[in-house]
Parts: sequence; structure tokens; C-alpha cells
Amino acid sequence: MEWFFNKPQHAAFKQQFIEEQLGYARSMGVFATCYYFVFSFLDFYLTSETTWQLLKVRFIVTLVLLSFLLLTFHEKLKHLWQVFIGLLVFTAGLGVILMAVYVPDTYKPIYAQGLLLVIFYGYTMNKLLLKPAILAGCSITLAYFIYAYFFSNLATEFIVTSLFFQISTNAFGVFAVYFMQKTAFQAYRKNERLKNHNKTLLKQSETDGLTGIGNRRFFNNRFQRLFNERIRGLDYVSLLLCDIDFFKNYNDAYGHLKGDDTLIKVAELLAEQIPDNEGFLARFGGEEFILVLFNYDYDKTRDFIRGVQQKIAAENIQHADSSVADVLTLSFGYVTFDVNNTSPSQAYKQLTKRADRCLYQAKKQGRNQIIGTTFN
Ligand code: GH3
Ligand code: MG
Ligand code: MG
Repeated sequence: MEWFFNKPQHAAFKQQFIEEQLGYARSMGVFATCYYFVFSFLDFYLTSETTWQLLKVRFIVTLVLLSFLLLTFHEKLKHLWQVFIGLLVFTAGLGVILMAVYVPDTYKPIYAQGLLLVIFYGYTMNKLLLKPAILAGCSITLAYFIYAYFFSNLATEFIVTSLFFQISTNAFGVFAVYFMQKTAFQAYRKNERLKNHNKTLLKQSETDGLTGIGNRRFFNNRFQRLFNERIRGLDYVSLLLCDIDFFKNYNDAYGHLKGDDTLIKVAELLAEQIPDNEGFLARFGGEEFILVLFNYDYDKTRDFIRGVQQKIAAENIQHADSSVADVLTLSFGYVTFDVNNTSPSQAYKQLTKRADRCLYQAKKQGRNQIIGTTFN
């Protein structure tokens, strides 16, 4: 039922609402409990005959209210705070009814007014969701009705009018909570849409338009995080630059569109070769790719690259205009470094510079080569 915000799409909203509003509800609970206790001046002021009985009730009820508040601090129970605050409201109401039992008939209307205040608090001040708010408010009115109708000598006219006021307060309260919750839900949805939109934009801004893998911006951000997080258990990291050999000739021979398809193919193949959570890659520009591998030392990295070169050879992508083979080949330059001994501020430039130098060397030595170095 829409009224109770019970549809599946409300679940996440409610969860977030409950998490976010706890602090506020607690402060209001403490404020209301103090206020409840401060009202004891009435117990003194109205009549001295019942002062001590009323004070006793007020004191015990205040302790119970504080206990409910304390429960909202319990790590394992705090997610149930709506129940505890609902019970707090109900108990405060019961306390007022109990005091009405003790005072002489002349003063009972004053306590009936007090109930309006408690019901008002239950609906408006402590961010109860609709269901607990209705349960707390209406239970108070029901308890009052049972007491007034069955156990008191109050005049029927008084019972009817006080019930009318209470029911009206409940009704207004329901609207107040409903609209508050509806507004909060709309704001939540708007926020979710914006968050999703931002996520999409961020993803787009970090994705290479041709190959679909990360672009240089993605790489920079991801690489920076490597140092910020100091990923647990991470010691050696390798940074690899990969360049397609004689790709200009490839384009010239087979056309730019075929060249595009081949770039996509190479990107896919590289991505497939990196095991989950063991690294990442990006298009560095043109026909160059950059890869980072976690916990790959110098030798393991070389083995990895050999595997990639074998895979690309197995793809058998014809390249008639290459001077190194008759199929497409890749050259690699890489640097292995100890992430804990490398300063983040210098890492990016220094490491890419070294890897680039190695790549240059690989090209110079005839292409389809692997040249690596270490950085300490
Ligand atoms: P080397 O072995 O020395 O790397 O030679 P190369 O021809 O691969 O290197 P060069 O830097 O001379 O040429 C790179 C070529 O990559 C030139 C350019 O046309 C091609 N290229 C860069 N970006 C793209 C792209 O998005 N699509 C296509 N089809 N080609 C691209
Ligand atoms: Mg190049
Ligand atoms: Mg090239």
C-alpha cells in the first residue's frame, strides 16, 4: 500500500532514512524525556495530596524512556530504533494516563491535554516512519479510551470531546508524517538519479571511445588510488607499456577501419589475460596500452608478457607489411617496483619514463621483444 511506503523501491530509501535519522531522533528523544521530567512541576503545583505518587510514576516512566533511548546506542540493536522510539512515545503516553488515574477528577482534563502533546511529539519530532508513528499514536488513544470508558468516572461528554481531540491529533499527525516521508522519498529518488547520472558520466569520462577499456584518465585515477589505498598485501607491482609493431603500415595496408577493429581485438585480448583483481589496463594513446599488475615480480611479469605474445601470435592477425613477422606482433617495456618504497608523487612520471625507455629499447632491438627493469 502506497500509504505505508511498502513497495520494494521504498526498501532502500527506508534503510537509508533509518540510518541517517538516528542521531536526530536520539537528540529529540533526550529532549522530550527531559521535558517530560520537567513537567513534574505540575505534580507539585496542582495538589499536594498526590504529589509523591505522581512523582513516583514520572520518575519510573522517565527511567523507562531513558532505557529505550539507551537501547538505540546498542550496536546490534540500533537498527531497530524506530521500534524503541515508538515504544518510548507509547510509554510516555501510558505514564500520562497513569497520572490521570491518580489525580482528582477536576485535574484529569489537564492530563488529557498532556496526551495531545505526547501524540504530537510522536508524529512530528522524532522522524518515526508512518507505521510506527501510527501504532504509537493510536495505541495511546486506545489506552486512554479503555481507561476513560471502563475505569474512570469521567463524564461521557468529556470522554467524547477528549477522544475527538486525540483522534484529530492522530489524523493530522498521519498527514504530517506522510507528507514528510513523501518529500524525503522524492528527495532520495532525485539524489539517487543524480548519483547514477554522475556514475555514468564518470564511467564515460574514463572510458576509451574505441576499445571500451579505460582511458588515460582512468589509468591516472586508478594508479593514484594504488598508492592512496596501499592495498593490503601489495608489495611488487609491474607497470607495462605495450605497443603494436608497425601499426602505421598496418593501417596503410588494410585501411583505418580494419586498424580500428584490430585495436579493439588487442585491447580485448590484453584485458582477458589479466586475472580478476590482479591488475588493470588502459589505452595509453594511439596503438599503445598501459598495464599494471599486482604482486608480479620481474620474472613473473616477463612470463605474463610471453603468454600475451603467444596469444596474439595464435590469433594469427595477418600483417604483410611488418618487417618482424607476417602476423601482428607487440613490443613491451616494463618496470617492476616495490610499491611500499616508491613515493606516489614521483611514481607516475618516473615509472612510465622507465617503462617507455624499455619499450624504446625493445623497438630498437627489432620489435616483438620484451625489455624490463626494476625500480627501487
Ligand atoms: P612502431 O613499430 O615503431 O611502433 O611503428 P608504428 O607504425 O606502430 O608506430 P607509429 O607511431 O609510426 O604509428 C602509430 C600508428 O597508429 C599511426 C596511426 O595511424 C595508428 N593509430 C593511432 N591511433 C589509431 C586509431 O585509433 N585507429 C587506427 N586505425 N590507427 C591508429
Ligand atoms: Mg606507438
Ligand atoms: Mg607501434
